Amino acid sequence: MTEHEVVIAGGGPAGMMLAAELALAKVDVAIVERRPDHVLVGSRAGGFHSRTIEVLDQRGVADRFLAEGQTAQAAMFGTTALDMSDFPTRHPYSLGIWQNQIERIMASWIAELPVRIYYSCEVTGFEQDEAGVDLELSGGRSLRARYLVGCDGGRSVIRKAAGIDFPGWDPTRSNLIAEVEVSEEPPRGVRHDATGVHGLHPMEDGKTMRVVVTEQRLGTDSEPTLRDLSQALSAVFGTDFGIHNPTWISRFTDMTRQAAAYRAGRVLLAGDSAHVHYPAGGQGLSLGVQDAVNLGWKLAQVVAGISSEDLLDTYHRERHPVAARALRHTMAQGTLQRRDERMNALVEVVSELAGMDEPRKRLAGLISGLDIRYDLGEGHPLLGRRMPDLDLVTARGPLRVFELLHGARPALLNLGKPDSVDIASWADRVQVLDATYEGEWELPVLGAVTPPGALLIRPDGYVAWVGEGTDRGLSAALSTWFGPNRARKGFGGVRRGAGPVN
Ligand SMILES: Cc1cc2nc3c(=O)[nH]c(=O)nc-3n(C[C@H](O)[C@H](O)[C@H](O)COP(=O)(O)OP(=O)(O)OC[C@H]3O[C@@H](n4cnc5c(N)ncnc54)[C@H](O)[C@@H]3O)c2cc1C
Repeated sequence: MTEHEVVIAGGGPAGMMLAAELALAKVDVAIVERRPDHVLVGSRAGGFHSRTIEVLDQRGVADRFLAEGQTAQAAMFGTTALDMSDFPTRHPYSLGIWQNQIERIMASWIAELPVRIYYSCEVTGFEQDEAGVDLELSGGRSLRARYLVGCDGGRSVIRKAAGIDFPGWDPTRSNLIAEVEVSEEPPRGVRHDATGVHGLHPMEDGKTMRVVVTEQRLGTDSEPTLRDLSQALSAVFGTDFGIHNPTWISRFTDMTRQAAAYRAGRVLLAGDSAHVHYPAGGQGLSLGVQDAVNLGWKLAQVVAGISSEDLLDTYHRERHPVAARALRHTMAQGTLQRRDERMNALVEVVSELAGMDEPRKRLAGLISGLDIRYDLGEGHPLLGRRMPDLDLVTARGPLRVFELLHGARPALLNLGKPDSVDIASWADRVQVLDATYEGEWELPVLGAVTPPGALLIRPDGYVAWVGEGTDRGLSAALSTWFGPNRARKGFGGVRRGAGPVN
């Protein structure tokens, strides 16, 4: 039977990002994807947010997406555009780019990496034992892996087969989404009424319209048809605008659910398989990509025997609360889309508040993903937060912090006296860099923070330790995140950690 260290079920955005992370960490990884290729019928999601652009920048590939998309210096909450141009990041904007473009770019990136993809192949079930997982594939085929990750979307076979609960809220309304041609000119802009949100927008080719319409009654699970779309449009606009030539018709709902556990033994979940919600605010794809970046390096270290399986539990601990918070906000935003006179009054009040400085920063911080703080204990405000992409000065010249992370390896950044931080035997796992930084230290939402003396940065770009003049706590942080100290007797106990950068 063919074996891989990690098999990922599903090659959507979450699955591809995870495959890239594992391949960069030299894990033997394979994707099993039901589709015959990475061509996505229909445009689907319309982009991602600032923190997702940052994590792609941490791997040196953000420019590929920026070149094809359109930036907007605002995140949307309900119908309120939240200005984020003052956020201290190199990317203070969201990126408008269709999911079919995102997937094409991601697929061409992972094609450059050692990732095996089994196309036209479905995972139908699995059994796990103490050493690995046996996967059943369509066509009677099978695979074995040490770990299996379900990135197989909201209806995840992996989540169900693992027996992981998916509690949450049933759908209360459904939308049809489609790409069609029209014979009549539709009205511009978005319309809100008591059922929800409706709109038709011309696409880049000049002849296709992207349609989103809320159905009068909750739709069924069956595939929607052109007739369903015609009826839904007529109910709202009094005409279906002569829709014809559909290239894509789909249905989504406001069902909101989250996996009770992101891990069951050797099986993990990421992306929509772990959380589904109404797409208000456009956070789904971003959440999945960031799940993958949180999980990738941890799983790689467990596979390589550097860390124990306990490290995998930090994946649920860190990412479950982030999605839970996003889910609550999407329910609130979805509610604001249903309008009658009383709701209009509420929307006005919320918009007024959301435009004020503090609420604007809080909401934009959450939607953009820039405010995430993993609970790594008390300490400096940077602890558990994203490392800003500072312009450093090093002995080898200028360097951006994110360039340090291109290889998905952890880094110890010493901003104090050169050669003053010793990372002992972790030098084989953690790169060390002496540098200086003269600018401001400012975090999104929080504002200015005290300049640190040194920082331990995880491969996902989050700060695992902050040095403020001493190395107190450094060894503990290194062993928590990057495995035990391997200093051998007769080696003098510690080795000077001047490991090469990248
Ligand atoms: C109308 C709409 C608009 C949206 N807008 C936005 C937006 O603007 N921004 C945003 O961030 N998100 C948006 N989203 C959400 C976004 O599309 C999803 O969150 C995102 O696609 C989830 O990525 P994923 O990789 O987790 O899952 P998916 O994209 O669902 O990928 C799952 C993959 O697994 C494959 N698969 C499934 N089952 C199996 C199996 N058993 N074996 C093998 N392969 C399998 C599928 O073929 C698919 O390729 C929107 C969604 C909708 C419907």
